Amino acid sequence: MGGKEDILSYIKHMAFAVKSVDDTLKRYQTLLGVGLDARVVTAEVARIKVAIFNVGEIEYQLNESLDADGRFSQWIAERGTEGLHHICYAVPDIDAALESAQAEGATLKLCSACNVFGSHPHPEGYVAFLEQETGGIELELMQVYTPEELEQYKSIRGI
Ligand SMILES: [Zn+2]
Repeated sequence: MGGKEDILSYIKHMAFAVKSVDDTLKRYQTLLGVGLDARVVTAEVARIKVAIFNVGEIEYQLNESLDADGRFSQWIAERGTEGLHHICYAVPDIDAALESAQAEGATLKLCSACNVFGSHPHPEGYVAFLEQETGGIELELMQVYTPEELEQYKSIRGI
């Protein structure tokens, strides 16, 4: 550890805001032959429907709000179009990654699903969002759980 080349490991997932999970998933399936084994989940608490599948090594998440004033509905309404909502990057050490980014002027963004700033537990790992975007794309960082942490946090719901 130490240099900036150690901050980031790989892309954990790319999350898209879509009007219709079914329509978008069908397009991936018919045009590209991916997502044929997608998991489609309706998360009642978060009020979203999400399709999760892999394109090569990268997980795609297609997110549709169940309500007109939901998180992804609002995002689409504000931009006037569907699109790439955020990219989640896996980091080996989220505290070190945030410290490094903040030393460069980054600020923490509220996790709208959890109402928390900075690193906090999500179903798959410790997650944080940055206020700063890269080319209009929101940045999420995730320190993916070890098997022990996964067991410890298995009751956490959501995405
Ligand atoms: Zn959260």
